[in-house]
Order: sequence, then C-alpha cells, then structure tokens
Amino acid sequence: MTEPDTMQTILIIDDAKENIVVLSRLLKSQANIIFALSGEEGLKIAGTNLPDLILLDISMPGLNGFEVLEHLKQSQTTADIPVIFITGIPDAETEEKGLNLGAVDYITKPFASAVVKARVRHQLKLQRLTTALKEANTRLTQLAMSDPLTGAYNRRYFLDALKKELERVQRYRHPSILMVFDIDRFKSINDNYGHDIGDKVIIEMVKVSTTMLRKNDTFSRFGGEEFTILLPETPLAEASQIANRLCMQIARTTIESGNKALSFTVSCGVTQLRDDDQSPDSIIKRADIALYQAKQSGRNQVVIADDTAPLVSN
Ligand code: GH3
Ligand code: MG
Ligand code: MG
Repeated sequence: MTEPDTMQTILIIDDAKENIVVLSRLLKSQANIIFALSGEEGLKIAGTNLPDLILLDISMPGLNGFEVLEHLKQSQTTADIPVIFITGIPDAETEEKGLNLGAVDYITKPFASAVVKARVRHQLKLQRLTTALKEANTRLTQLAMSDPLTGAYNRRYFLDALKKELERVQRYRHPSILMVFDIDRFKSINDNYGHDIGDKVIIEMVKVSTTMLRKNDTFSRFGGEEFTILLPETPLAEASQIANRLCMQIARTTIESGNKALSFTVSCGVTQLRDDDQSPDSIIKRADIALYQAKQSGRNQVVIADDTAPLVSN
C-alpha cells in the first residue's frame, strides 16, 4: 500500500508561470501535474479533476490563495483535498492564517528543491493512506449491513430500520407495514435438490422481491429462508395486495436444476406498525404469528395479523 499503483495528481495554482515550470520539473516524477494561472481557474479545475494535492500561491490577482482555500473548504467535493501554500513571505501571521483556514503545510519561495519534494511526498502518502482508509470503511459498512449470499440488507440493518420506522410511526402516525416471508418446505428443497439449488432459490427470492418493490421499501434477509419487507407510508389494503402479488410472482418463478425446472412458494405474515408498539420485537412477533397461520392454512398465502388496531390519527 506504500507504493502508488496509479499516479496521483497535483494541481498547482499560481499566477507566475515560472513557478509552475520550476515546481512541475521538481515534482513530475512523483505525480501528474496540472496547473491553473488564477484562483478562479484553479477552483474550476479542482472541482472537476479532484486532484490529490493542491499547491496554492497566496498572492495572486483576483481571488488570492486564502480566498481560494476558503472556497475549496466550502465545497463538499473539494473540502478534503490537502492544500500546501506557496508563500514568499514566511511570517508567522501568514503561516498561521493559512493553517487556520485548513492548509496542511506551506512551502516558501525561492524553492528549496529537496524540501519541496519531501513535503509533497509526505502529503501524497498521507492522501493515499486516507483514500485507502475511506475505501476500506465503505466496504466494511457495506459488509456490516448486507447478507453475503444475496447482497440484500441483513438482520442487523433491518432491525435498525424497523426501530427508526417505529419512531416515525409514533411521531407522525402514518401507516407503515412489516411483511415477513418464509420459503415453504425449504428443507425438502435442500434435501431433494441439494444445498446449492437451495441457495439459488434464496437468491431468486431476493431478485424477484426487490424488482417488485418501491424505492423506499426495505427488503432484508432476516435469516435462513426468512425475509422481511418494511413498507413506509403504506395502507394495509395496499400492503395486502403487494404481498399477494409477490406470493403469486414467486410461485410462477422457476429455477433450473439440471434439466428440471423447480418451482417454490412462500408464505407471508403482514402487520401494521402501531403507535403503541413498545419495541420492534412486538411488531415482528405479530407478523410471525400471522406467518405461522399462513403455514397452518396450507402455505403459499398471505395472512394479515388480525390484532392490528387502527392507528389513531390526529
Ligand atoms: P416451512 O414451510 O414450515 O417453512 O418449512 P421449511 O422446511 O421451509 O422450514 P425449516 O425451518 O424446517 O427449514 C428451513 C431450512 O432452511 C433449514 C436450513 O438448513 C435451510 N437453510 C437456512 N439457510 C440456508 C441457506 O443459506 N442456504 C440453504 N441452501 N439452506 C438454508
Ligand atoms: Mg420455510
Ligand atoms: Mg423458517
């Protein structure tokens, strides 16, 4: 990770061409060099090219370096790009102002080659590590909330989403729905066709479901062959239709197993979130009881929890 696999880019913003020439020559072995001859142009290039480091002259006509830095920090896309000031006047006040505005370092004119190279190398390395850390963090967050087999949200993510949705229901009293789906006689699919085909069935269940849902609905793999769907702002009658449609669509879906086509069904329990629900557990329990009834009544069907009290509306 210490060696760059792709060249980083440095943007030099300086109104004096000769400075750009000298710096480019010094730094071209470390990074790709792009430049701008004014603060205004520099801001534009920074926003579109997203360089890994900016060398910024302080005294320029038009926007000066301090103003450019302020603009860079105000925009989300450029705020994290490290900036090294170029200054001919290394007094404490200028240095302090630059650092307070968010510059990471400064280099002085006339340029001392070895110092410039070392400071730039150090910042490029830090920037590379920061980028790698951010990417690792994004991957970890993704892993922590998703199920590895299907890529669907996992139980942890779902429980969190349900908790938040319950809070919204208690606050705004809008109708929200929880559905729990369970694949019917899944054990016998595994037993008869093998675990790999069982996995394919699970993956297909996720595919069919997610293509049928709306953007705000949260589909999760609760565990094994059990799935949950959280539907905010959805009246019970509409939810019932959605659940039935999904059940029917699943029953029509086939999986290839050798030269045979295998079909499967799901059962579903549906309940409305209630403002008197004390916790996500009570909602899941209600949906589970309805699901159990669907299984008892012959599977491949939807049961609406019958103890769903109407929401108090205000
Ligand atoms: P029911 O209709 O009552 O739901 O019966 P069922 O056979 O679906 O229910 P049961 O809970 O007895 O069996 C679920 C099976 O799901 C048992 C378990 O081995 C299997 N299973 C859980 N996770 C996975 C998985 O990721 N892949 C595969 N292939 N099987 C799984
Ligand atoms: Mg099952
Ligand atoms: Mg089960």
